[in-house]
Amino acid sequence: VSITYIPHRDLEDRVSGFFALTSDISDRKAIERMKDEFISVVSHELRTPLTSLHSALKILATGRLGTLSSDGQQLLAIADENTERLVRLVNSVLDLQRIESGAVTIEKQACNAAELMVQAVEAMQPMAQQHGITLVNQPLNANIWADADYILQTLTNLISNAIKFSAPGGKVWLTVDTQRQPLPVPKGQKISKSKAKNAAEVVLFQVRDEGQGIPTHKLESIFERFQQVDASDSRKKGGTGLGLTICRKIIDRHEGKIWVDSNLGVGSTFSFTLPASIE
Ligand code: ADP
Repeated sequence: VSITYIPHRDLEDRVSGFFALTSDISDRKAIERMKDEFISVVSHELRTPLTSLHSALKILATGRLGTLSSDGQQLLAIADENTERLVRLVNSVLDLQRIESGAVTIEKQACNAAELMVQAVEAMQPMAQQHGITLVNQPLNANIWADADYILQTLTNLISNAIKFSAPGGKVWLTVDTQRQPLPVPKGQKISKSKAKNAAEVVLFQVRDEGQGIPTHKLESIFERFQQVDASDSRKKGGTGLGLTICRKIIDRHEGKIWVDSNLGVGSTFSFTLPASIE
C-alpha cells in the first residue's frame, strides 16, 4: 500500500491537518514482477540456442567441414555477425533487468579512479587500434567509493561508443578530476562560506571524442532504452541502444550523475561523477 499525505490549510494558510491518501499498489507491483520474470526467462531461454548457433557458425567458418563458395562465405559472415548482435542484445537485456530489479548487489569500496581508467583503456586498446583511434589517457590520482567492476563496465561502454562514433585518425581523451559539489541549500536559506567550503567532494570522469556529435534534442533521450540517434546505428555499428541506459542505472546506484555535452560535427563529452572516498 502506498500512502501520500496532503496538507490541509486553514483560511490563514496554516497547516491544520493532513489528508492521507492510500492506494493499493500490489497489482502494479505484481505486474512489474511478472514483466521482470518474463524478460529474464525469455532472455535465458534465448541464450543457450544462440550460443550453440554461434559455435556452429564458427566451426563452419573454419572450412574444416568443406570449403564454401565465396557467396556461401559471405552469407556465413552475415549470419555470424547477426548472431553476435543477438547475443549482445540478450546479454544487455539481462544485464539491465538484473540491475533494475535490484538482483545484483553493488559492492562499494574505496578504489583508485586512475587505475580504473588505465584498466578501461587497456581493455579498449584493441578496438581503438582496429578503428584507427588514439586513446589519450590523462587521469588524476583520486579515490572513489564504488564497485570497481561496474565502473569499469561504464567506462568501457563510453569508450567503445566514442570509438564507434569517431572517424579513423580521431582521438579520444580520457580524464579523471576532482570537484567540489555544492551541498543542496534548503529553500529560503543562505549557505555560509564555511559550509560552502565543506561541499562534498566528487570525482569527475570524462570521455571526450572528436566524432560526429549528437543533436541537442537527443542529448537526454539516448539514455533511455533502445534510443539511438540514427535507427540504422544498431545495424551499422552493431549497437543495441541499451548501453547508456545500463551506464545510467549503474551511476544512479552509486548516487552519482551521468550526462553528455555535444556539438554536431565537433564531438561529444560524456561525464559522470561519483562520490570521492575519504579512506
Ligand atoms: P548503442 O551504442 O549500443 O547503440 P548506447 O545506449 O550506448 O547504445 O548509445 C545510444 C545512442 O547514443 C547510440 O546509438 C548513438 O546514436 C548515441 N551515442 C552514444 N555515444 C555516442 C558518441 N560518443 N558519439 C555520438 N553518438 C553517440
